[in-house]
Amino acid sequence: MTEKKQAEQYSLFFIQRFKGKVLFNVPMSDYTSFRIGGPADVVAFPKDDGDLKDIISFAESKGFPYYILGAGTNVLVRDGGVRGIVIVMIEGFKHAEWEETASGARAVAGAGASLAEITGECRERGLTGMEFAVSIPGTVGGAVLMNAGAYGGEMKDVVEGVEVMNGKGQKGFLPKGDIGFSYRSSNIPKGNIVMRAHLAFKKGNKEEIKNKMAELREKRKTTGKIPYPNAGSVFKNPEGLVAGRLIEEAGLKGETSGSAQISNVHGNYIVNLGGAAAKDVLHLMALIRDRIYRTKGITLEPEIKVIGEG
Ligand SMILES: Cc1cc2nc3c(=O)[nH]c(=O)nc-3n(C[C@H](O)[C@H](O)[C@H](O)COP(=O)(O)OP(=O)(O)OC[C@H]3O[C@@H](n4cnc5c(N)ncnc54)[C@H](O)[C@@H]3O)c2cc1C
Repeated sequence: MTEKKQAEQYSLFFIQRFKGKVLFNVPMSDYTSFRIGGPADVVAFPKDDGDLKDIISFAESKGFPYYILGAGTNVLVRDGGVRGIVIVMIEGFKHAEWEETASGARAVAGAGASLAEITGECRERGLTGMEFAVSIPGTVGGAVLMNAGAYGGEMKDVVEGVEVMNGKGQKGFLPKGDIGFSYRSSNIPKGNIVMRAHLAFKKGNKEEIKNKMAELREKRKTTGKIPYPNAGSVFKNPEGLVAGRLIEEAGLKGETSGSAQISNVHGNYIVNLGGAAAKDVLHLMALIRDRIYRTKGITLEPEIKVIGEG
């Protein structure tokens, strides 16, 4: 299909059906915490379940690829950008519904709700279970997909199940046992989009929860102060080891490629010093993997998701 024809097809659909905001040819650097990434053909913000179903059906029927994004805090978009549609969940799926239970409370949280909001609500309501997430940026959807975690806690500890939509626009519910949670990963069937997560928390002591969150926030002081855009830890920790320490021991802190740098503060963070290209970050990632493999015989596995065209 010619580019013009494709643009016409997009426009027609978005004018006629779609209720949410739609942007064409926008740099993904606007939608990632790395502030890196070439243009996406289309960035769409579905307003509700109907919008999501419509856009998936449209994409599937035309053979347009699509990619789901939360807050973009764990993603590196390549410099050539993304062909197809980036579906961003942060506008229409923000709502969280809270309900008291015998042991505490349950929240049915929209995929686009921020973890910070859920954590804050738990603190105010005196609910325990979410303290670990106090400094993790991003959305509920992204956190479920990544099984985000810190300080011994992870999303799998609080998730009861997720409401999903598959590539045919059909809704379903995946109970926790079917999500396939593992370290910084889940096994949600390909093509399934998390619309809402059912989260369960126990009643706790408000003061203790507040103090725990303050304590964990304090522990983040070093990385929290990194003044440059980044996407958190680039590599997963190998079993029993700390990736950042391996990188530091290999003498790689401070290495640069273009305007990307292996952080001087934390070896497992790569930072964008200003105007870095994805290829610079990828170059540093390759350098790290190669050096750690050669010196320690360990293959580091990326934690961040790399998407788009080179
Ligand atoms: C400063 C900083 C500190 C961080 N600290 C931590 C930490 O301590 N622990 C930790 O685990 N992570 C950490 N991260 C990484 C990141 O914040 C988490 O992985 C977060 O959960 C990602 O959420 P997001 O909404 O930004 O997801 P995105 O980056 O937008 O997406 C991540 C992945 O999830 C998929 N996805 C997003 N939403 C959905 C959905 N609704 N349905 C299906 N798939 C979806 C995307 O396709 C992508 O593959 C940190 C990041 C930064 C920048």
